[in-house]
Amino acid sequence: MKSLNILIIGGGIGGLTSAIALRRDGHQVTVIERDPTWSVYGVGIIQQSNVLRAAQQLGILQGYLDAGVGFDAVEIFIPSGQKVARIPGHPVAPGLPSNLGIGRPALHKLLGDTTIAAGAEVRLGLTATNIDDTGQAVTVAFSDGSSGTYDLVIAADGVYSATRAQVLPQAEAPEFTGQAVWRYNFPRPADLDALQVYNGRTGVGLVPISADLMYMYVTTPEPDNPRYPTEGIAAMMRSKLAGTAPAIQALAEQITDDAGVVYRPLEGMLVRGPWHKGRIVLLGDAVHATTPHLGQGAGMAVEDSIVLAEEIARAADPETAFAAYRARRFERCRYIVEKSLEICHGQIGKGPPVDNAQATAEMFEVVSQPI
Ligand SMILES: Cc1cc2nc3c(=O)[nH]c(=O)nc-3n(C[C@H](O)[C@H](O)[C@H](O)COP(=O)(O)OP(=O)(O)OC[C@H]3O[C@@H](n4cnc5c(N)ncnc54)[C@H](O)[C@@H]3O)c2cc1C
Repeated sequence: MKSLNILIIGGGIGGLTSAIALRRDGHQVTVIERDPTWSVYGVGIIQQSNVLRAAQQLGILQGYLDAGVGFDAVEIFIPSGQKVARIPGHPVAPGLPSNLGIGRPALHKLLGDTTIAAGAEVRLGLTATNIDDTGQAVTVAFSDGSSGTYDLVIAADGVYSATRAQVLPQAEAPEFTGQAVWRYNFPRPADLDALQVYNGRTGVGLVPISADLMYMYVTTPEPDNPRYPTEGIAAMMRSKLAGTAPAIQALAEQITDDAGVVYRPLEGMLVRGPWHKGRIVLLGDAVHATTPHLGQGAGMAVEDSIVLAEEIARAADPETAFAAYRARRFERCRYIVEKSLEICHGQIGKGPPVDNAQATAEMFEVVSQPI
């Protein structure tokens, strides 16, 4: 299919990488984003070798490398602070790092600027209030009273996808895992040249995201799914780090700014049935939201975007394209969602403990395979 008019619902990582891929194929692309400020929170994200390969395919590799910081290994520590493993990554091409840490705002700016420069229209503060697939086209009514008609609609509207609720009402819903994550930015120590993972019931990670910045993530069991008020949340995060390795407790003393703490209950969700209906297809967290234990959620969304664009280019009709896209993506996304959840459950005693070093090495092997 060529020269289609495509609507993308959601201007996050999946929506924007789709827009970039589809503009490269010459389609007309409109992205609608609910958030009028189109902003993301300030901590970082890990992108592994498969995402750098995908960035290369999208023509944005140099932007990624400039906006983040590459590193080649994951180091595993036991709760006492002793390092027990250093796992090399799988660079996908000579000269490329195996992993990249990047601030979410820096990544958002890269993808947003590239999307706009590629010629996609981005409309902010807008949702779809009605989506009507006539079989020949999709007519969409928007929250500002306007409407449009499109050949295809791609829903990249995240884990709570309103489009999923409308188009695939029987699909799985996100489930709270019993664990939450706390994140905070710190100055990056000069010798931090890897993702450092401290195992334990309270899990901690240190992720370099620029020459002078890193972020800490802390996973804690939160069986009652509490909501913590912003006031006092820095002290609460500090208290969660009591009993962790000495190096982590030393860092904990610097957690003083309530507004700098990003807290999030962790959920998982995998749509096991079709990922499309008619001319409307879903992508990214809208169909496979993973807990972050393998650092691959955004990676899966970016890979989805490339595969979906390839299948749209190859197929003669939407049904064939969307079925082929899901067939190519399901197994890898299932692996990431289920393995991440296993690690999560092992950490909080809901399942047998998982060897993190082995799981990470296996994940690198899986995602280094072609998409
Ligand atoms: C704590 C945590 C840590 C993570 N760390 C990593 C990591 O290190 N590495 C990694 O690869 N992944 C990580 N992830 C996963 C990653 O953040 C997600 O997989 C990724 O953001 C999914 O992208 P998406 O575009 O599908 O959804 P989202 O990023 O959720 O984007 C959806 C967009 O759609 C918009 N939207 C929602 N509803 C509507 C609507 N009705 N109309 C219009 N717009 C709408 C939203 O405002 C948003 O901009 C992490 C996730 C969590 C929770």
